[in-house]
Amino acid sequence: MKRIALFPGSFDPFTKGHEDIVLRGLKIVDEIVVAIGYNSQKQNRYFEIKYMVEKINETFVDIPQVSVVVYNELTASLASQVGATSILRGLRNTTDFEYENSISQVNRDLNPDLETIFLITSPELAALNSSIIREVHRYGGEVQNYLPYTL
Ligand code: ADP
Repeated sequence: MKRIALFPGSFDPFTKGHEDIVLRGLKIVDEIVVAIGYNSQKQNRYFEIKYMVEKINETFVDIPQVSVVVYNELTASLASQVGATSILRGLRNTTDFEYENSISQVNRDLNPDLETIFLITSPELAALNSSIIREVHRYGGEVQNYLPYTL
C-alpha cells in the first residue's frame, strides 16, 4: 500500500524550509499532499492561494509524488479523504513544539489512525519564517533567496 502523508500549512508563502520538509518527507512516505488551509486565525493572506498553488506545483514539477490541494475543513478529515495515514510537520524550535504537541493530540483524537510525523528543521533553514518573509516583501526587500521558486 502506498503511504501518503498530508503536509498542511498556511504556506503564505511556501519557503525553502517547507520544500526541505517535503523532500526529506519523501524518504519516509511515498506521496505527499501539500494542503494549503485557511487558518481561522489568519484569514487575510498576503500571497493569494491560487498563486501559491501555482508556485508549489512549479517547485515540484519534476516530482510527481507531490501534489497540492486547498482546504477549508478539519485537517484530520482531509487526511481521510485523500487517503493519508500521516501528517507531516516541521519543528523549528520549542515554540513550534508546544503548538504542534497539542494539535497532533487533537488530530489523533479526531482520527485515531492518523499519526503526525515531525521532522526537525535543517539548521540552515531554521530561521526561515513565512511572516518575516511577508514583512520584508511588503516593504520592498529581496526575499527570493528564501523561496524555492521565482516570485
Ligand atoms: P502553519 O500556519 O500551519 O504553522 P506554516 O505554513 O507556517 O503553517 O508552516 C507549515 C509547516 O511547516 C509547520 O509544520 C511549520 O513548523 C513548518 N515550517 C515552517 N517554516 C519552516 C522551516 N523554515 N523549516 C522547516 N519547517 C518549517
